[in-house]
Amino acid sequence: MSEIQNQNVLTSTQIVIEQALRKLGYGDDMVDLLKEPIRLLTVKIPVKMDNGKTRIFTGYRAQHNDAVGPTKGGVRFHPAVNEDEVKALSIWMSLKCGIADLPYGGGKGGVICDPRSMSFGELERLSRGYVRSVSQIVGPTKDIPAPDVMTNAQIMAWMMDEYSRIREFDSPGFITGKPLVLGGSRGRESATARGVTIMIEQALMSKGIALKGARIAIQGFGNAGSYLAKFMHEAGARVIAISDVHGALYNEEGLDIPDLVDRRDSFGMITNLFKDTITNEELLELDCDVLVPAAIEDQITEVNAGRIRARIIVEAANGPTTLEGTRIVTERGILLIPDVLASAGGVIVSYFEWVQNNQGYYWTEEEVDDKLQRMMLRGFKDVHDLHLSRGVDMRLAAYMVGVRKMAEAVRYRGWV
Ligand code: GLU
Repeated sequence: MSEIQNQNVLTSTQIVIEQALRKLGYGDDMVDLLKEPIRLLTVKIPVKMDNGKTRIFTGYRAQHNDAVGPTKGGVRFHPAVNEDEVKALSIWMSLKCGIADLPYGGGKGGVICDPRSMSFGELERLSRGYVRSVSQIVGPTKDIPAPDVMTNAQIMAWMMDEYSRIREFDSPGFITGKPLVLGGSRGRESATARGVTIMIEQALMSKGIALKGARIAIQGFGNAGSYLAKFMHEAGARVIAISDVHGALYNEEGLDIPDLVDRRDSFGMITNLFKDTITNEELLELDCDVLVPAAIEDQITEVNAGRIRARIIVEAANGPTTLEGTRIVTERGILLIPDVLASAGGVIVSYFEWVQNNQGYYWTEEEVDDKLQRMMLRGFKDVHDLHLSRGVDMRLAAYMVGVRKMAEAVRYRGWV
């Protein structure tokens, strides 16, 4: 990903935040405050590598705004992490929390690294080092981390353990996405995909297409992509394509999803096991009912938006469609369910995890799924209604719903 593209992630987010706030009637002061995180910490993390040498990693934690409550959002481990991306991601977390009506602002963290080339021990030392470096500004009532791209329940467990040692008491509510035995919530691991499934059902319904037999193409086979493929397959939809960073698998009749889920590695790699593959670019342009970008940013752009043949796009990844891409697909009549709505399932069940940790009382999977379903449906209705009543595209509608509670909280507190 080039420097210029990364700049765009933040600037395009700022453009839509500004449009949303102006439509809601706010002035320059509110725009200036909410278009940047209130806090960004950059840290250098020394890690003793297995070869005996010390490597210095760079990490970040951005907190968008805490007027509503503590900030909340994942930590990603990825070679392309950078300051602007983390800032934009923290703003998107605010919007997700706003749409789901959670008592949080948005936060996000990241470390520039490639976990695929690190040992278990190195990853543990990096995870613990990250928590030591940001411990002053995070905590169960301040800023609550969670998994994101290439981080998982094991990494959350190390981070929680490190935080508990620093604070000298057990604090499971410091972080979410933990293993069940350490205070994780039932249904958390599959939550993003559950939420995306609910959005796909709603979108198909609004277009009068049946889920059974619907052709679904999914870009990405990580946490969100693989669970989503499984849920779609179980619901009788035809998953015609999936992909990883190296390429995509395609079968017009539908892929054998249970087999692929079994054979993927922990980072979602699968195409290396097959000879007959297509490219990620080709996957995006397949003739299908629903296209789900579930990988990374900037996948649907002004270059390929005119060639997308899906009738519906549901964004399971953060930021997969650029502003220009959004304009083109919207004009072409493709229904786009934006990331800040479609992928809110993860943070919603993270909120449930935090509530359960605070109460010390744990819910059944049915309770979690039921509450998740109600929140996602209300979010969809709020955004879709505003899209129709104000004549704005789905992304702007989602930003308006996502930012209005925060702006009101800022105003009540007298910050602007
Ligand atoms: N990383 C996920 C996201 O981008 C989940 C964040 C959380 O659970 O706090 O929405």
